[in-house]
Amino acid sequence: MLRELEDQYRHEDSDLAAYAVHNLQSLGRRFPEKIHPLRTDFQRDRDRVLHTKAFRRLEYKTQVFLNGAGDHFRTRLTHTIEVAAICRTIARALCLNEDLAETIALAHDLGHTPFGHAGERAMNEIMKDYGGFDHNLQAFRVVDLLEIKYPDYDGINLTWEVRTGLIKHRKDKKTFLDGKELPPYPSLEAQIADIGDDLTYYGHDVDDGLDAGLINEKMLKKMKIWELASENARKSGLKEGGERFRAYTVRCLIDMMVRDVVQNSSRNIEKFKIRKPVDAQNCGAQIISFSPEFQKMTSALRDFLYANVYFHKKVSRINKIAADCMKKLFELYVKKPEKMGENARSRIETDGIHRTAADYIAGMTDRYALLEYKKISNAKKEK
Ligand code: MG
Repeated sequence: MLRELEDQYRHEDSDLAAYAVHNLQSLGRRFPEKIHPLRTDFQRDRDRVLHTKAFRRLEYKTQVFLNGAGDHFRTRLTHTIEVAAICRTIARALCLNEDLAETIALAHDLGHTPFGHAGERAMNEIMKDYGGFDHNLQAFRVVDLLEIKYPDYDGINLTWEVRTGLIKHRKDKKTFLDGKELPPYPSLEAQIADIGDDLTYYGHDVDDGLDAGLINEKMLKKMKIWELASENARKSGLKEGGERFRAYTVRCLIDMMVRDVVQNSSRNIEKFKIRKPVDAQNCGAQIISFSPEFQKMTSALRDFLYANVYFHKKVSRINKIAADCMKKLFELYVKKPEKMGENARSRIETDGIHRTAADYIAGMTDRYALLEYKKISNAKKEK
């Protein structure tokens, strides 16, 4: 049995809700292409993201704990894979387009700098007089301009739906792409990628924070959401304390958040009478969201993580040392552009030296940035 493209479209029609983005409704690519006989456009987009160099580099970029600090800590790559899996679950449960939600999830962190939060703060500081730096916009630059693969254009020529899904839509300010004004809210699939990212890191950063010994169960117990997740673990017959109890509690935490998003979003789809994709983009509210009760509990968890994990002195001290090297690299490349790679240099004329240097450094893995930094330091010592 062979499933041709036409069959896939038919399958999509019968499988997805009318408010899902369908492949046949796509507004297409910047540079028109022939259709593929076996893959839909969103499938092709997903594969294109997976085959980028930027995606492969995620393996060696810090999520929270400096890359290489421990074998079990999440990296940008494992974080991204977890986000993609959770997004597929939510999209499938709500009869939305899984391929589109997954593709946006897989691409969402392609613009992250090395060294996690500290790296991003360093890059914001470096670029403050040159147009700023935003990791969401950077992901867009990566897929639209910086990846070099095709003969006739820069970037990987993704569909309009994936490209707009990577741009944060603003309710308070008009956002444009290719001269078109974007609606105040993104597609439901892009909203899934957004909340999928949040709930994924809430779950895994608790896990990694515990693993690193920065937080403990006693501290977490003060939060209602952790208490609910532990209650589930206790009900399953596990005794409190120990690795299995902890691991199962984290598992319950993630599961509870995913279920809440699915149930609440399904209610919102009814409540706001979402019938077509465009209804969700203009209805004046975020459709894919936590219930008010979970919103409160997850916000408390997020604040807890900021206070006790991301800004823990053990994390921020090490990451800060590493981030300082980005500033030195920036100074070097602005002064000596010939030290950058060939592809990066080719953009100096159109984007200017500062943006080009920022693109080049933002794309680096932790280890490559440190290696380049060592080279500069050694060269200085030899003088
Ligand atoms: Mg992320």
